[in-house]
Amino acid sequence: MKKKHLAIILSKLKGFENPKIELEQYRTPGNVAAEMLWLAYSLGDIEERIIADLGAGTGVLSVGACLLGAKKVYAVEIDEKALMIAKENAKNLNLEGCVELILSDVRFFDKKIDTVVMNPPFGSQNPKADRPFLMKAFEISDVIYSIHLAKEEVRRFIEAFVNDNGFKITHRLTLDFEIPAQFFFHKKRLERIKVDVYRFEREK
Ligand code: SAH
Repeated sequence: MKKKHLAIILSKLKGFENPKIELEQYRTPGNVAAEMLWLAYSLGDIEERIIADLGAGTGVLSVGACLLGAKKVYAVEIDEKALMIAKENAKNLNLEGCVELILSDVRFFDKKIDTVVMNPPFGSQNPKADRPFLMKAFEISDVIYSIHLAKEEVRRFIEAFVNDNGFKITHRLTLDFEIPAQFFFHKKRLERIKVDVYRFEREK
């Protein structure tokens, strides 16, 4: 499997049918998901690991982690409709044995795992919507991959919040991310924004 191949597979997965704006349901584009998962894979954080995908949506990151050799991925998602699409995506790639669907608010997920991969709400609808995701990730894992807006104030918040919770940022890559414009009430069909993909690790 090459990174480009992974990006193509992930970009062809089924997406949200009627995305819910209040839950910030936009899927991770194939290229962004592949970059993040490839980084994780190359650092040994995917193969044979138990992973949680918090706010898994239609399962882009869960499926990608399984394709790269994860032992198991818990796909934790509050919206049943989205989770049913994640199930279908996993099934179509014969990954039902790897992706375990958990219909739950991330706050109530309580398994200890090796690696978190997540694309949480950016907080454009409900400010601070990313907080419960970060808090849960710090609680259950020593290694976390997460996607946030590449804006100065967000960067400053992430740096301080990660540090306050006993973690450090080991990697950060800035990437283009396409969002259907419905979420930002613009006229363009697609809005291209910049995101930061992070790796956080618990301080020893
Ligand atoms: N990770 C997916 C979807 C990102 S969109 C992808 O990469 O494509 C964010 C997802 O978080 C949505 O599916 C939304 O329904 C879910 N979500 C929002 N708040 C949640 C919560 N408190 N608990 C669990 N899932 C939540």
